[in-house]
Amino acid sequence: MQETQEVSSGLDVTAIRRDFPILERLVRGKRLVYLDNAATSQKPQVVIDSLSHYYQYYNANVHRGVHTLSDEATDGFEQARTKVARFIKAKSSRGVVFVRGATEGLNLVASSWARKRLKPGDEILLSRMEHHSNLIPWQLVAKETGAKLRFIYLNVDGSMNLTNIDALINERTKLVAVSHMSNVLGTINPVKQLAALAHAKGAVMVVDGAQSVPQMPVDVNELDCDFLVFSGHKMLGPTGIGVLYGREALLEEMEPYQGGGSMIADVSCETATWNEIPYKFEAGTPDVAGAIGLGTAIDYLQRLGMANVRQHELEITSYALDALSTVKDLMIFGPNDPENRGGVISFNIFDIHPHDVGTILDQQGIAIRAGHHCCQPLMNWLEVPGTARASFYVYNARDEVDALVAGLEKAKQIMGGFSLGRSL
Ligand code: PMP
Repeated sequence: MQETQEVSSGLDVTAIRRDFPILERLVRGKRLVYLDNAATSQKPQVVIDSLSHYYQYYNANVHRGVHTLSDEATDGFEQARTKVARFIKAKSSRGVVFVRGATEGLNLVASSWARKRLKPGDEILLSRMEHHSNLIPWQLVAKETGAKLRFIYLNVDGSMNLTNIDALINERTKLVAVSHMSNVLGTINPVKQLAALAHAKGAVMVVDGAQSVPQMPVDVNELDCDFLVFSGHKMLGPTGIGVLYGREALLEEMEPYQGGGSMIADVSCETATWNEIPYKFEAGTPDVAGAIGLGTAIDYLQRLGMANVRQHELEITSYALDALSTVKDLMIFGPNDPENRGGVISFNIFDIHPHDVGTILDQQGIAIRAGHHCCQPLMNWLEVPGTARASFYVYNARDEVDALVAGLEKAKQIMGGFSLGRSL
């Protein structure tokens, strides 16, 4: 592939690519075309360096030490929390709980908020496009409390069907939990509107921002959500670190998630009192390096500018939707209009299993994902066992979309036109 200087929406993609050492590697003798960003993003050198710098120079446990290294580690860890708070426009870093990822954030809310409060007859409202992380924790809560799960259904274009939303969000609704951006359809959901409806009925609003926070400016005040979760590894940060943002008043009322070191104020043999928020929810030694790495990833994204990041996503998604529509017998799931969707494009090619598509693309150095994407109820609704999925991020260029399309044509050549042989 020829390297041409590509600048879109204020992002100098060619320069950005130089920050990501992994993009230089070859896969099966071809230059890597990494289009599996909805699963996890690659990491820029500055993030890799910040992890090794931490381990080389100031590795220590946080919040407990009286020595210099521990102070430095604590400063780094807490600065990262402040960076997160500013990134999502939280009023203060007290509302920012470090967790392992979006999954743990959702389980924390399910465990410490919902499990303690819900009772038979109460309702939890989800949608048919939720990731299992935003479904199974609520199934567990429903089983334990007798609360009922209800679902927002979808229109054929993969948007939410809100025609009966006034019936779905009612006096019995105690919690609404939906993804801001679908990891299969790419749909950007009207979470602000849903938060207003939920609050009008006294319900809390949980937003799964695993796909949206990496790609667009997200402001928790503007959305007026009560909880927001996301994962560092999908936004240029390390694995193993993520964020639960919670409205401070709610976090104050909630019981701890796990017990152990750091989350306590006073402990006797029989009982204990809790540390202040957010520490009440951070039992044990946290992922200090991960938080510092996430802070560095946030610095990097802010240097690019989140409005530019979103604009680039829009442009490359729009280019990809057009390019993919030239492939015969290829069906795209999700909204047509790039304004209403993110850079996650799920598709199937008639008669070719998505795993075969993925394997043939891999032979050409192109990484996509194939399967149910942890969204089995959505797959059932789409009436497919799985889909192929290409997803884009700040370092993806148009020539990679072209490579994808060429790769798909090759897959069709290899897999298509299979003959049954002569009848004997
Ligand atoms: N929600 C959505 C929409 C996701 O795409 C993902 C990750 N695929 C998750 C939740 C879970 O994220 P994690 O595995 O990082 O906890």
